[in-house]
This record gives sequence, C-alpha cells and structure tokens, in this order.
Amino acid sequence: MARISKPSAASATGSPSDLFRRARLKLTGLYVLVMLVVTLLFSVSLYANLRTDLHESIRGSLRADVDQKLFFQERDSGILEDLLLADAVVLAISAAAGYAFAGYALRPIRTVLANQEQFAADAAHELRTPLAVMRTQVEVQLRDKEPLPAKARATLQSVLDEVNGLARMTDHLLILAREHRTALPPERLEPVDVAAIAAQTAARLRPAADAKRIALEILPSPPLRVRAEEAGFTRILGNLMGNAVKFAGAGGRVSVSWSAEPGGEARVVVRDDGPGIAEKDLPHVFERFYKADRAHGGGGSGLGLAIVKRFAEQYGGSVGIKSAPGKGTDVTVRLKAA
Ligand code: ADP
Repeated sequence: MARISKPSAASATGSPSDLFRRARLKLTGLYVLVMLVVTLLFSVSLYANLRTDLHESIRGSLRADVDQKLFFQERDSGILEDLLLADAVVLAISAAAGYAFAGYALRPIRTVLANQEQFAADAAHELRTPLAVMRTQVEVQLRDKEPLPAKARATLQSVLDEVNGLARMTDHLLILAREHRTALPPERLEPVDVAAIAAQTAARLRPAADAKRIALEILPSPPLRVRAEEAGFTRILGNLMGNAVKFAGAGGRVSVSWSAEPGGEARVVVRDDGPGIAEKDLPHVFERFYKADRAHGGGGSGLGLAIVKRFAEQYGGSVGIKSAPGKGTDVTVRLKAA
C-alpha cells in the first residue's frame, strides 16, 4: 500500500511557522557551508604563506644549539591553532548573522502565507451565513404547499444541490485553514469508539447508498477505541465512507472494518468496489483541491482527503490508499488505539 501520509512526512504540510523555521534553518546552514568553504580555502593559503615567511625570516638567526625541526614544528602548530580558532569565531559569527539575515529575508514570505490562510478562513466564514440563508429559502420554496411547476422545481432542486456543495466546500476550507498541521498534545485527545461513529456515519449515508442500490456494510470487527477527537474522527469516517458511496457504481459494495494491530496501533479500512484511481493520480489525491476523475461522482471539492490526512496527522497517525482502475479503492487510517 502506498503510505501517502506519515507524521514525519510533514515537510510539505507544515504550518507557516514550521515552514518558516525550516526554511530559515536551511538558509542558515547553506550560508555557514559557504562560509566554511571560503574560510578553509583562505586559511589553507594563509597558513602556507605564513609558514614560508616564518621559516625564511627566522632560519638564519636561530642559535646553533636550537633543534630547528622541533622549533618550526612548534611554531607551525601555533599558527595552525590560531587560524583554526579564528575560523571557528568567523563561523560562529556567520551562523548567528546568517540566522538573523534569513529571518529578515523570509519575513515577507511568512506574512504572505499567514495572510493567505487567514483570507481563506475569513472568506469561508463570511460565506457560511448567506449560504445557510439561501439553503433555507430554497428548501422552504420546495416544501411549499402550493405545487411548483415541474421546471421551477427542477431548477430549485439544482440550485439547492449547488448551494449544498458550496456549503460543504466552505466547511472544508474552514477546517483546513483553522486546524493545526502538527500532532496535537496527548491531553487534547480522547478515546473515541470506532463502532459508534461508523454506525452513525453509515446511518447518515444509508439513503444515498440505497438510492444507488449500494450495499453499505460494517464488517464484523472487534471493539476498538482510538485516540482522537470525536468530531475529527467523525469527519475522517464521513469523508472516507462518503467518497466510497459517491464513487462506487450502482449496485456496488462499500465496507468499513477495523482491527487492533500489534504495538498499540488501530487500523480502520474503508473499501469500495468503484472505478478506482489511476496510478498517476494516486500520489496526489491527498493534496488540496485535487480531483482525480471529474467524470465520476462530480461535485466534490477535492478537499475531503486533505482533511482526512490533516486530522489523522493531528492524532499522531497516518493515512494510506491502495487503488487501481477497475479494482476499487481501499483507504486505511492508522491511529493509536486508546
Ligand atoms: P472530493 O471532494 O472531490 O471527493 P477528495 O479529496 O475526497 O475530494 O478526493 C480527491 C479525489 O480522489 C476525488 O476527486 C476522486 O477523484 C478521488 N477519489 C477519492 N476517493 C475515491 C474513491 N473511493 N474511489 C475513486 N476515486 C476516489
């Protein structure tokens, strides 16, 4: 199975301040490396020159009873020690200056990143209320006792579908903008009962599954609790089972199962026998806004799996996907068992 997300693979997904710190350290490292090469080259040539000058200027004036070899060896190592000390001082100053310069140079990038996240969060937040109002108004119209002409009803229904899609997307955007990108402290996590959340999610998705004659099953699995947050874990299962129902073909099969693995790991697997995902798309499906196949089950935002990954990583876990065209899709979430 292609393990797409590991807690350690946070490089592409760190928070702006994590990214900033890493970039700052990298720039400082590069700066020190360049300074190291320059100082070493400079020191080697300086050492050679000083040594030659010293030997030439002193050789004739040495007393006859002085051991010349020993005298020059001591002088040479004295020069070398002084040079190495000077190099160490130069490198330490370069590291400190490099760190300060890198911070200064990267500050505008950090500000842009933070503003971008804040903008996404604000825009999503501002969109919520008008979308909720539109949804309510259209729903009221559709339920009105006065029968609507068929064409108007169809139009309103399609507006309602679009509004629901937009509302889902703003919810997802808000989650991605607000939720931490790094593992949460253990005290923020609670034991969450997998069976209860799976049953709730299956009940919520049952009408959509029935409409496509999809067998939505919870396979016999042992009692299991995972260390997570109830809302986040509900979102994980909701997005995964929702995708499975959305992408499985009519008359297909969707299952969810879980197991306790050695080492205190819990594994939750959502499987469908839908069209699967092409190999070229597979490494990208956890990226924000990535939609592999727009022909099947359209209407998604491309944010669902990014959110699953975000929550799994927050809980110190990971998510992996196995899929092949025509062979269905398995998504496995690994979390700590509680
Ligand atoms: P979306 O909201 O579009 O479903 P996701 O982030 O959940 O966004 O998924 C990203 C893309 O990965 C989807 O657009 C789809 O192409 C593909 N995908 C996800 N789950 C499945 C699945 N169970 N079967 C087939 N394709 C899937």
